[in-house]
Amino acid sequence: MKKLRVLHSDSTIDAGKIICVGRNYAEHAREMHAEVPVRPVLFLKPPSALLTAGEPIIRPAISKSLHYEVELVVIMGKGGSAIPERDALSCVFGYAVGLDMTLRDIQAEAKSQGLPWSVAKGFDTSAPVSSIVPAATVPNPRELGIRCLVNGSVRQQATAGMMIFSIEQLIAYVSTIFSLEAGDLLFTGTPEGVGEVVDGDVIEAHLTGYTSISHPVRSR
Ligand code: MG
Repeated sequence: MKKLRVLHSDSTIDAGKIICVGRNYAEHAREMHAEVPVRPVLFLKPPSALLTAGEPIIRPAISKSLHYEVELVVIMGKGGSAIPERDALSCVFGYAVGLDMTLRDIQAEAKSQGLPWSVAKGFDTSAPVSSIVPAATVPNPRELGIRCLVNGSVRQQATAGMMIFSIEQLIAYVSTIFSLEAGDLLFTGTPEGVGEVVDGDVIEAHLTGYTSISHPVRSR
């Protein structure tokens, strides 16, 4: 089981399943020429996709187009099913910044054929995640800011308040389908500005004012 570090602490959390939300920022849905969804679009990554501190993100040989997507990641502290919106934030252990690395060519092929996204989204190293910022130290999660830089230049920037479905709505909805457990990760979707990275690029992702990660890109 992979471990997630807690910021400014020696403690770790055992990572559970990884649930990801697609199209949760209107401008990103537009740049992907996709409809703004009426309910959250969900997909999963296996926990083996997790990548910690500084290790390279590796594009597998099957793909020619690796994209970054910076996302706010919610780490569950308490589980449950059908969690009411009003109780959702009390189930959160903390927040992190993550990258939903995507094989865009493989995803486009899957979309056009009506096939699952597991390969495009779940390959090894597709889920870099920062240390966890405990929820108790975050006064208002809607104000959390995320930012992505490639080779030092800013590509994506947003705050959680810009999401189509809020953190509370996502936890409530997701938990009607997948029981949530302590250590589960929820990737909450990416804002506009996604793009390709190639061998030798360095991707930085920030949870503004709290923590950041930096990963080099390699191809196999
Ligand atoms: Mg994404």
